[in-house]
Amino acid sequence: LTDLIADAERELARGAGGFLRNIVREPGVTCSVCATAVDGYPWCWSCRQARSTPGLADLVVPLTYAIQGTQSATVLRHYKDNPTLSVRAQHARIVNRLLYLGIMLHEQCIEQKVGRPVTLRLAVPSLRGRPGTHPFIATARTMRAVNDAPQLVPTAGADHDRTVSANQFALGPDVSLRGHHILILDDTWTTGANAQSAALTVRHAGAEAVSVVVVGRWLVPGFANNAEFIRRRLRGDYDPHLCPVTGGDCPR
Ligand SMILES: [Zn+2]
Ligand SMILES: [Zn+2]
Repeated sequence: LTDLIADAERELARGAGGFLRNIVREPGVTCSVCATAVDGYPWCWSCRQARSTPGLADLVVPLTYAIQGTQSATVLRHYKDNPTLSVRAQHARIVNRLLYLGIMLHEQCIEQKVGRPVTLRLAVPSLRGRPGTHPFIATARTMRAVNDAPQLVPTAGADHDRTVSANQFALGPDVSLRGHHILILDDTWTTGANAQSAALTVRHAGAEAVSVVVVGRWLVPGFANNAEFIRRRLRGDYDPHLCPVTGGDCPR
């Protein structure tokens, strides 16, 4: 297992070495939920708006930033949208390695913080119609992070307007999740509406605790003081051992 982790680290460093960045966890500097840059506030605008909704995730853990217009964002777009299969596969491998290391190295940190072991992982499918299995679900299945069932499926009435609602997703099959700590996996967090909607769905199914791991927190350099945040705080190369739950050492 240690060898598998070391292999994944080497592969990630080789494929995405210089352009991925660890997330920053610092009150007043980044949102206490989604780790985007804030200007002295505890939450970003989206997370503050959503806060009044009961049933949101107990903990949100982005692994990296997807900085629009840079390679970190290209990976998360092109692993599913690039017209060339080999390009999709190359980017999907990076997404796969990030998620694998995030789970292997830090799922226990999530369990520690939330106070219960993770009992089931579910991947969030895209709300946009795609033929076949969604690339992110395929990636999560490849490493056996998720099973074939139950799974989250977009409902017929799912919209794309970034509202947080338990009606965006359903469970297939419609099982009880009573007593579970569900770990929801998603590729990208923009407003958080998709992952938080999925959190509400599993809560309605009885989940006791809900955590979210997203591969990339989307960051637009032109927005607010993001450019300065990126320049000043996102300098070092990605270190998979730096804890995305604490922003520093793993809790012990
Ligand atoms: Zn936020
Ligand atoms: Zn950790």
